[in-house]
Amino acid sequence: MLRVKDLHKSFGDNEVLKGIDENIEKGEVVCVIGPSGSGKSTFLRCLNLLEEPTSGEVYLDDEKINDPNVDINKVRQRLGMVFQNFNLFPHKTVTENITMAPINVLKMSQADAVKRAHELLEMVGLADKADEYPKSLSGGQQQRVAIARALAMEPEAMLFDEPTSALDPEMVGDVLEVMKNLAAEGMTMVIVTHEMGFAREVADRVVFMDGGYLVEEGTPEEIFDNPKEERVKDFLSKVL
Ligand code: ADP
Ligand code: MG
Repeated sequence: MLRVKDLHKSFGDNEVLKGIDENIEKGEVVCVIGPSGSGKSTFLRCLNLLEEPTSGEVYLDDEKINDPNVDINKVRQRLGMVFQNFNLFPHKTVTENITMAPINVLKMSQADAVKRAHELLEMVGLADKADEYPKSLSGGQQQRVAIARALAMEPEAMLFDEPTSALDPEMVGDVLEVMKNLAAEGMTMVIVTHEMGFAREVADRVVFMDGGYLVEEGTPEEIFDNPKEERVKDFLSKVL
């Protein structure tokens, strides 16, 4: 569903991605792990063109999307993204946060959009928060709203960039639970995470990045129990 071929990304002289090849199948859950600064966020952001690759190719289904003729907004609609810091609109209610893009971009009716928002809030366990403003919610609740908001656009895949890193520890479980349910429903997901327990349990495949390279990838058992590369062993010895 997502294919990346020899992806390079530089910021000025700083080459951050040095040739990444990766294929993500429909329905697959791929967790991306690795040290800070290794290029994980940049990789994720190149998948939905929040960053423009310097060279290489990104395909969504069979369409090359890093092409000047491609409508970037259409691509971003097809790939929902959830960030570390939620990025909810502070002056909109929870329901308005979720319905805004479906109404404005998908031209959904207000009534349909609200109905769908309430279904999604039910799904993330926040049915009672529909009319609240983000500031009255905990971080974990805000992040679950952000997930509902991304899902409201009916994306074909979801990209998560450290969705639990900004949360107090007691909030992490609820957010991971929502992501687990999504995975179980067959959503294609690429998740940058430091939650190794989650990656082991939920990922179909774990990808380890370091220094702008994809160093090793495999099943959770292969990566966590029997890593081949020294850099992976070293990283895991520090985080596990
Ligand atoms: P990770 O998510 O693995 O921590 P990032 O992809 O965020 O790594 O960053 C990798 C490198 O790219 C870092 O050195 C960072 O400073 C650099 N970088 C990321 N985004 C930008 C940007 N917009 N402009 C300049 N440098 C950037
Ligand atoms: Mg990052």
